[in-house]
Amino acid sequence: MKETNYQYIIAGAGAAGLSLAIHMIESGLSNDKRILIIDKTTKNENDRTWCFWETGKGKFEECVIQQWEQVSFISPKFHKKINLLPYRYKMIRGIDFYEYCKNKISKHQNITIVQENIVAIYAEGKVKTVKEEYNGQFIFNSTQINKTKDGRYHQLLQHFKGWLIETEEETFDTSAATLMDFTIEQKNECRFMYELPLSKTKALIEFTLFSESLLKEEEYEHELIDYISKKHPQLKYRITEKEFGIIPMTDQPFNAYEGGKIIHIGTAGGATKASTGYTFQFIQKQCDAIIECLKNTTSFEEINQIKPRRFYFYDRVFLRVLREKKEPAFKIFTDLFSRLPDSLPFKFLAEETTLMEDVRVLRSFNKSLFAGAAIRQEITKKLIKPVQ
Ligand SMILES: Cc1cc2nc3c(=O)[nH]c(=O)nc-3n(C[C@H](O)[C@H](O)[C@H](O)COP(=O)(O)OP(=O)(O)OC[C@H]3O[C@@H](n4cnc5c(N)ncnc54)[C@H](O)[C@@H]3O)c2cc1C
Repeated sequence: MKETNYQYIIAGAGAAGLSLAIHMIESGLSNDKRILIIDKTTKNENDRTWCFWETGKGKFEECVIQQWEQVSFISPKFHKKINLLPYRYKMIRGIDFYEYCKNKISKHQNITIVQENIVAIYAEGKVKTVKEEYNGQFIFNSTQINKTKDGRYHQLLQHFKGWLIETEEETFDTSAATLMDFTIEQKNECRFMYELPLSKTKALIEFTLFSESLLKEEEYEHELIDYISKKHPQLKYRITEKEFGIIPMTDQPFNAYEGGKIIHIGTAGGATKASTGYTFQFIQKQCDAIIECLKNTTSFEEINQIKPRRFYFYDRVFLRVLREKKEPAFKIFTDLFSRLPDSLPFKFLAEETTLMEDVRVLRSFNKSLFAGAAIRQEITKKLIKPVQ
């Protein structure tokens, strides 16, 4: 008879689900537990590339295919190569991560992975798939089941199209990744390019927007062609992979724990930073917190507290500033990167700064712009109306 009772059920085997499984294995927590991992897909495709910054060696260091100590920031009147140390900007291909995790998991007979479509998750500890009903002492959910958008909050999108290109000539400078290049037409939006060199002849080039609605597919492609031809005139290249992504940028609260037996993880558990879309590094912090709760049998409420409250406020105000469009987005980022010591903006965006450092970062921005947005944000609180 098929086993349907587990101590832990991990619903969704993406970045958060598989990270949590690895954190459980490495902490020894999984040793005496029966764990079930459910995903509707096989995770056999390179469906995304993660970039993030961290100090030292991370848990998934073996999957890192490239890392940079320097990143470039480029805007119309300002260009800076930023020394990131003690951070390094790292890149992991989805497929390498999935294979690495699945390989580790396969060495543990008490962990089962099934490919099934989940149709419902119940607070009392049940997961219903199209084939089966499973019971778990705790369910760690990274699917979007039961998640709906709430119009009272800012709902921006980070959307992007990336091409992995290969060239015959040596073209790219591998010493630095271009994190944001704003020297493209802004069209009254926040639009920039990434150029992430994997070698002198291979780079991931990505056209990214922070805005309220998507473009037509050909518009992303047109911008990529235009950028490559201007930055690297006459370059002959072939596209070897394509990536398209949408990351929610919202201040809508997605608590990891709201009682019962379900703990939400990853984007579903609020791990996506509203103002940047970066998630991977916050997933790792969330996993650390879950492991601590499980080890010490403390309340999962603690997972809701890992992000200092003030960072929610900064993100919310930043989303308002972006939506109100009183100043071009590239100017805001130019202030951030031109007025502060190299790695401080990254420490701030990783939510690792002290209050004193926050003050220094906040002073780098246009004060009246941000103060005005902060006041309007406080006044409207949860009754956000569409920006006119
Ligand atoms: C293309 C792309 C690129 C990104 N790049 C970066 C980046 O560079 N840096 C960064 O920090 N963040 C990045 N992100 C944002 C974020 O890190 C990723 O979205 C990350 O994968 C989120 O992890 P997650 O586990 O919450 O969601 P996912 O990784 O999407 O995992 C959710 C899993 O649940 C499964 N699932 C969903 N519904 C069901 C169901 N009904 N039944 C069974 N299984 C289900 C899915 O198949 C999936 O495997 C990117 C996102 C995208 C889309």
